Amino acid sequence: MASGSAIQIPSRLPLLLTHEGVLLPGSTMRSSVDSPRNMQLVRSRLLKGTSLKSTIIGVIPNTSDPASDCDELPSLHRIGTAALAVQVVGSNWPKPHYTLLITGLCRFQILQLLKEKPYPIAEVEQLDRLEQFTNQTKSEEELGELSEQFYKYAVQILDAVSLEERFKMTIPLLVRQIEGLKLLQKTRKPKQDDDKRVVAIRPIRRINHIPGIAEDEEEDEDHDDIVMLEKKIRTSSMPEQALKVCVKEIKRLKKMPQSMPEYALTRNYLELMVELPWNKSTKDRLDIRAARILLDNDHYAMEKLKKRVLEYLAVRQLKNNLKGPILCFVGPPGVGKTSVGRSVAKTLGREFHRIALGGVCDQSDMRGHRRTYVGSMPGRIINGLKTVGVNNPVFLLDEVDKLGKSLQGDPAAALLEVLDPEQNHSFTDHYLNVAFDLSQVLFIATANTTATIPPALLDRMEVIQVPGYTQEEKIEIAHRHLIPKQLEQHGLTPQQIQIPQVTTLDIITRYTREAGVRSLDRKFGAICRAVAVKVAEGHHKETKPDRSEVTEEDCREHVAEDAKTESISDSPDLALPPEMPILIDFHALKDILGPPMYEMEVSERLNQPGVAIGLAWTPLGGEIMFVEASQMDGEGQLTLTGQLGDVMKESAHLAISWLRSNAKKYQLTNASGSFDLLDNTDIHLHFPAGAVTKDGPSAGVTIVTCLASLFSGRLVRSDVAMTGEITLRGLVLPVGGIKDKVLAAHRAGLKRIIIPQRNEKDLEEIAVNVRQDLNFVTASCLDEVLNAAFDGGFSIKTGLERLNSKL
Ligand code: ADP
Repeated sequence: MASGSAIQIPSRLPLLLTHEGVLLPGSTMRSSVDSPRNMQLVRSRLLKGTSLKSTIIGVIPNTSDPASDCDELPSLHRIGTAALAVQVVGSNWPKPHYTLLITGLCRFQILQLLKEKPYPIAEVEQLDRLEQFTNQTKSEEELGELSEQFYKYAVQILDAVSLEERFKMTIPLLVRQIEGLKLLQKTRKPKQDDDKRVVAIRPIRRINHIPGIAEDEEEDEDHDDIVMLEKKIRTSSMPEQALKVCVKEIKRLKKMPQSMPEYALTRNYLELMVELPWNKSTKDRLDIRAARILLDNDHYAMEKLKKRVLEYLAVRQLKNNLKGPILCFVGPPGVGKTSVGRSVAKTLGREFHRIALGGVCDQSDMRGHRRTYVGSMPGRIINGLKTVGVNNPVFLLDEVDKLGKSLQGDPAAALLEVLDPEQNHSFTDHYLNVAFDLSQVLFIATANTTATIPPALLDRMEVIQVPGYTQEEKIEIAHRHLIPKQLEQHGLTPQQIQIPQVTTLDIITRYTREAGVRSLDRKFGAICRAVAVKVAEGHHKETKPDRSEVTEEDCREHVAEDAKTESISDSPDLALPPEMPILIDFHALKDILGPPMYEMEVSERLNQPGVAIGLAWTPLGGEIMFVEASQMDGEGQLTLTGQLGDVMKESAHLAISWLRSNAKKYQLTNASGSFDLLDNTDIHLHFPAGAVTKDGPSAGVTIVTCLASLFSGRLVRSDVAMTGEITLRGLVLPVGGIKDKVLAAHRAGLKRIIIPQRNEKDLEEIAVNVRQDLNFVTASCLDEVLNAAFDGGFSIKTGLERLNSKL
């Protein structure tokens, strides 16, 4: 295309049928190829052996229905455009396809179809010749703009072989467009003209330009940019290997016409290479004492985590290198994992960057796309380095447990390389294609659970568990950290809003149910927004709660402040009344947040036989879980609902078998009075909150208790929750997650907790104030569980008494 003479096309051309648009001579378009016919053409004509640049194909607009991709060749439009395939990009997603970049050369007409399969080949006659646009002026740019407008008329225009006919068709359109263009140009800076279509025309202006003597073209801004870029490359501190690549690329860039898609690609690449912090780092400052103070100031509680982080930092200071396991904070959302990561960066005086891995399932997300892809980019690691601008930041790999896998490769494998100190000094991103030294980066990972972290990755990490908070801890965190932060974010001062601790407790117990403090934080955000509106309106005096509605407790709490604030506001000396804080009490809370979300749930649900509360562990923290059972006439079927895993289903079968074999001992009968509990009876067990998949053996004791309640007709104590695996012989085996489960029971206001005897040691981890609130029963067999779960026990004696009273 770069030659000064007219183009001669081959007399036989393979035909590409396009649905997406009409390619006109002189314009360039991207065409997606996914029909078998076109795919074949691309494979055999463009990809096999032949050099792309010499390959000319015929492009025919396909006017038939694109959906009807049948074997039959549709009737072909007689006139087409011979085109140069400039680039072929292949992808397998969402289905195999190629994207072609084609430039129209000239019109041709089909004389004879020579072959239909596997793709059509025709004998053609060239109709016009693409003369070079030598020395043409601005109007090309206008034409470039116009080509888009021509789109819908394009097929007509394609048919117009004679110049006269073409002019007649296009002049009315041109006149209208030129007016519009004039307006457009006025509003645009000249440099922004670099839009795609204009670029398509510009190279023609440069076609005679000889690389190397570009200095003469003073007005060529792009050229100046390239010179600048080259200078930057030469003065940058990149390693030798990278420098070599860059020098080679800039040489290529200088020779390249700007129309080539590769031009922009190469330029972006070089710009990134220059920007990367090859040798730039911040100086570490580490004073363990200062670090301890900073961690303590920023975070309440979480002693174990803080201690471990300080140890880690101390060892690093002594050893002065980063080799060693990567820290991985594992715990429910909102317990401060990210926040501690940020503090670590702060104590070291390093930059911080978070890389969210949730849902990442493509290796190129981590490692970048090869540069052959249009729109290829570096991966998140290199991007992160570019963002922070230094080569020794703290990278927080957030949610490593949520990494996915797909056909596009396993991102965990890329992460492995990133985290391996033996390999990461020469990490090669596909886009960069030269090694970057990651050995100075400090990686910290976070996860909700270790269960879904790929084992090889887990192996590189030192897991530190971050459990949920108790109510008391949450109150402290709220008042020391969350509320002050929210006030600042909303431009409020403590003189404008007052949130007493009882209100915070109310929010914790009645408006949130979580292990961390994230929704608590959001609730404070909502309160601050509401108050900000009042303050901005200047109406906040009127919003003071109606005292007639305030409870006695509220009055006691706030009487002192009220006296103070009111006495000031009553002072007649002040021209403007001083601000009185808006008090957030229960009534204000209800106004702002709506009615409480978690109330009365427990006792309401336990007011009939056949319901028991279990304790479950989920990656989001511990949860209480209701188990419900009912019986009905039937044939001894067991139905289970509520999204259960296999292990949970097995627990249900075990529970029924154990109860059936002990029915006489406990005097349990079904609705028809039979000791054979399944005799003419179906049982339905349900685990509400069906959206959450539940599995694991720890519901065993709860299912037994729930069924014992159903067949004895007795209510389970409304303040009891339990966890434990069972065996067929009625033993209770230990389970995991005791701490989170106990905290969940405590949050829900339950008082008695039945745990397996062998889990007794786990209670030591639980804060003393929580332990004091609760009554723990440890059980080694089901008899003990049942005795603790029912008022007055569940012994044989009580069973007999109950039977007698029935008689
Ligand atoms: P995670 O990463 O565990 O999901 P975040 O670090 O995003 O949690 O924490 C959520 C919010 O709670 C942040 O604003 C954080 O500062 C705050 N937060 C959590 N735990 C504490 C704590 N112990 N002390 C102070 N603030 C905390």
